[in-house]
Amino acid sequence: MPPNRRPRSVQLPSREEAEALLKKMRGDVEKNENYRTKSLRIHGAICAKCGREFDSASLNLLTVHHRDGNHHNNPPDGSNWENLCNHCHDDEHSRELLGNYLAS
Ligand SMILES: [Zn+2]
Ligand SMILES: [Zn+2]
Repeated sequence: MPPNRRPRSVQLPSREEAEALLKKMRGDVEKNENYRTKSLRIHGAICAKCGREFDSASLNLLTVHHRDGNHHNNPPDGSNWENLCNHCHDDEHSRELLGNYLAS
């Protein structure tokens, strides 16, 4: 549960700030598309866990998992990426959450 889910009064950003933010968001989306495409090319359209194979019709169910949990760590050789189907990806992250919960 993120700590600041409560609605709070927000200050409207200035025009410049809003534009900078938008630019940044667009850049992030592009980068995200990029690493997914790269990861699919490197690791193939197959789930690394359950071995399910994907074609162009089902490819949207295949997601890229970051092994170290850091979405900004995207080495071009794909060593931090793992292609997981949405089911295995959920599973992977619920394990992590449970681990964090048990460790805290
Ligand atoms: Zn899977
Ligand atoms: Zn993940």
